Amino acid sequence: MKTIKFYNLSDLNKKYTKRFVNQFYKLNKIGRYILGANTEKFEKNFAKFCKAKYAIGVGNCYDALFISFKAYKEMGLLKDGDEVIVPTNTYIASVLSITGANLKPVFVEPDLETFNLKASIIEKYLTKKTKAILAVDLYGHPADLINIKKIARKKNLVVIEDAAQSQGAKIKNKMIGSIADATCFSFFPGKLMGAFGDAGAITTNDIRLYKIAKSIRNYGEKNYYNYQDRKYENIYHGVNSRMDELQAIILNEKLKTFSEEQRKRAKIIKYYLKHIRNKVVELPIVKKGFLHAWHLFVIKTSSRNKLMKYLNKNGIQTMLHYPIPPYRQKIYKKSKIKSKTFSDNLNKKLLSLPVNSSLSLKEAKYVVDKINSF
Ligand SMILES: *Cc1c(COP(=O)(O)O)cnc(C)c1O
Repeated sequence: MKTIKFYNLSDLNKKYTKRFVNQFYKLNKIGRYILGANTEKFEKNFAKFCKAKYAIGVGNCYDALFISFKAYKEMGLLKDGDEVIVPTNTYIASVLSITGANLKPVFVEPDLETFNLKASIIEKYLTKKTKAILAVDLYGHPADLINIKKIARKKNLVVIEDAAQSQGAKIKNKMIGSIADATCFSFFPGKLMGAFGDAGAITTNDIRLYKIAKSIRNYGEKNYYNYQDRKYENIYHGVNSRMDELQAIILNEKLKTFSEEQRKRAKIIKYYLKHIRNKVVELPIVKKGFLHAWHLFVIKTSSRNKLMKYLNKNGIQTMLHYPIPPYRQKIYKKSKIKSKTFSDNLNKKLLSLPVNSSLSLKEAKYVVDKINSF
């Protein structure tokens, strides 16, 4: 058996490159490389996919989050120094987007079963200064969004969702992207629907947020499509975070086959869940009513480091998500944390196994056999 790679992007992308090249020629005939027809088309397609009213293509998911916070500030719903609830265990980008927008992260322990924010836990952390909740769908399992929204409605809080890992997931048959006030996606090459570079998107049902965020991504300039209509009138503190046409071409192609790719991924997951049987290994769970997107398959074991070494010796690459939680990083060391159960206990037990749609069942079987004989 050759090495089972954690990421196998060149294999995954092989089938797209031909179509990509053909469209590249077309793009050069038109000669509009930024925010052109392909991005417009992607925004329409992606909004439809998420069952949201609007989508905005941006440079990456950090920007999607940052721009959402900026837009809510322009709308007067957030101001400098407001507190934003964020889970202790997320990728650093979630927290950087909060501090980047001059807001204050309040780290909240996740539910130890799903690794995500839970409404009943959040309630203990609310103060007069809490103005927003950043819910992260870690590993692809959606956060407790329906209940989080109930708290938010009661307390007048904005709910932003970091869906960098949960494209295509659902809660009670509602698509991720249609539930939170603003949902932010990543098309980083290693994510569920990877571009050939950086890209991201915001979805929302709120036309005001849509218009403002769309303008902020383009230096805060009044929205236009035809260059003839362009007035160079800048109305918001904007940034440059425009989706480029090459990425939009790739993403339009990939969106067409996304469900098919997810079905392949689900087959591997089903195999793992059914056949991994080892007393020292605890498998991930899916809460009732949730559809998991399975960006990552993360097991729990108190023999984590030994198992990792053993799998590596047997040609199976694994990863840790994430070895250092954001509040343990140097820049956030001064943050006050009420409870650290997650980092002090659980985090040391987590191990991500390889999952991607180009993994064969034979390879999955090999992974399972090795874990079971550990
Ligand atoms: C990948 C990721 C991001 C950042 O996405 P980029 O597109 O790289 O900016 C943010 N949050 C989470 C949870 C992620 O996994």
